[in-house]
Amino acid sequence: MRYGIISDIHANLEALTAVIDALQSQRINGYLCCGDIVGYGANPHECIELVKSLNAFCVAGNHDWAAIDRMDMSWFSFSAQKSLEWTKQQLTKDDGDFLRSLELIVKTEDFILVHSGLREAGRFHYVYSINQALDMFSLIDRKICLVGHTHAPTIFKKAASYIDMVGSFEFALEKDCQYIVNVGSVGQPRDYDPRAAFGIFDSVAKTISIKRVPYDIQKTQEKMTAAGLPQSLVERLAIGR
Ligand code: ZN
Repeated sequence: MRYGIISDIHANLEALTAVIDALQSQRINGYLCCGDIVGYGANPHECIELVKSLNAFCVAGNHDWAAIDRMDMSWFSFSAQKSLEWTKQQLTKDDGDFLRSLELIVKTEDFILVHSGLREAGRFHYVYSINQALDMFSLIDRKICLVGHTHAPTIFKKAASYIDMVGSFEFALEKDCQYIVNVGSVGQPRDYDPRAAFGIFDSVAKTISIKRVPYDIQKTQEKMTAAGLPQSLVERLAIGR
């Protein structure tokens, strides 16, 4: 299978459309979504519809949970709370049903999918450091675990005697190694590259690539401003932070 990997779409329709267009020329025959379809952006309903149309393996993120009242809003920043309040008003019953149907962890023969850490997955711990990755690897019983949440492309590799970060965004999965792969965010990148991020996982060729594609940021920002969403959320899209 060649999987297109998307994560942290955050209701950014222009970014999601650009990513799906880019994946269309990549002989993709399956999609993986690491959560946070909604929150922050101006098109939660449209993004849910698009993800549904992909028939993706998909897990719930913390914003998806907050939008259906499965998570206490006090966990979120002030601007995130504002956007979530607005998001709740935009969701149809079907949208809510879809978000409620999402599991926290999806496991197949080829991969594990989770929004954040595997330990206490419903508490959405971040995995930034080698030590956090070390703990997470103890729970991984597949070659690869795909995650989101930090909005920054990051790859951890566990070999027989060490754990390291992989510096390349195009690489082959090595025999006897395991990987935690975060392909970054479609709709709100935070690695100072404002272009939408996505990935491709070829489970036969055993390769991963993380790619970027530009999208109409200004259009997204105008829609967010018109919706009355917090300006800090609007502005950060232009700098990718
Ligand atoms: Zn997110």
